[in-house]
Amino acid sequence: MTFPNPQDVREATAARQGSGPAISPAASPVVVEARKLSLVYPTADKPVTALSEVDLTIARGDFVSLIGPSGCGKTTLLRVIADLERPTSGHIAIEGMTPEQARLKRLYGYVFQAPALYPWRTVERNVMLPLEIMGLPKAERRQRAREQLERVGLSGFERKFPWQLSGGMQQRVSIARALALQPDLLLMDEPFGALDEITRDHLNLHLTQLWRATGKTCVFVTHSIAEAVFLSTRIVVMSPRPGRILDVIDCDSLPRERTLDIRESPEFAAIAHRVREGLKEGHSYDD
Ligand code: ADP
Ligand code: MG
Repeated sequence: MTFPNPQDVREATAARQGSGPAISPAASPVVVEARKLSLVYPTADKPVTALSEVDLTIARGDFVSLIGPSGCGKTTLLRVIADLERPTSGHIAIEGMTPEQARLKRLYGYVFQAPALYPWRTVERNVMLPLEIMGLPKAERRQRAREQLERVGLSGFERKFPWQLSGGMQQRVSIARALALQPDLLLMDEPFGALDEITRDHLNLHLTQLWRATGKTCVFVTHSIAEAVFLSTRIVVMSPRPGRILDVIDCDSLPRERTLDIRESPEFAAIAHRVREGLKEGHSYDD
């Protein structure tokens, strides 16, 4: 049984508060723009520079993966985009707005590493919870929940409890919950990190199809090179101490429509190689 971490719940609640419709697809082609973004955590010991002068532009419809070793600031960057953390210096805009304005307009959905589902609520009622907080009428809540559960392949599981589902299915519920908010931007922090490789392959395939079908802009954190290459239109390679961007790799050489067998292609191997080289560079810096 997975009990939500209280901090995740607070964050998820913060992420869902506010009012106003999601921005229409006709809005700005740039969804995230960060310039010289730095964040220093003041700790009792000594300050930790989690992000150092990060420059990043994410266009509408992009699938951007952030990859790098633990502690390189991936979660921090996602949290800054989501207005869960304030940068120490630099500039960040989400569709031309401050992260706070974007949060209040419910522009993004956030998927945490752990599914953070309430065990006493059915699958459907878990997906409906943020919609309840938004004050949507019950019929609309139910309709949106059903639509999104169908999208993630969980029709027929509405009345189950989270603990009756596998880890992969629970994570799909949590993606459905984020999508039910109809966000422009989907932020995902290692959503498949705790799953076995076969389940992960299956969910990667599902996610790429979902991304193509919905046209959402995605920012996806991962440790897995194969996962990053398979899913992304662009890969951001990061390194720790201080957290910074080492390389941004375009995956234009791969088709937009992807099946698992593209992983055998020379184009896939070439991108994976470049990611690996970038990570190596970051590592030697660390020694
Ligand atoms: P990642 O997600 O890439 O593993 P994080 O963004 O979680 O990295 O962390 C980046 C760095 O900031 C790490 O050195 C981590 O220990 C530190 N850090 C993260 N959150 C806090 C916090 N709330 N207070 C102090 N240090 C933190
Ligand atoms: Mg992290």
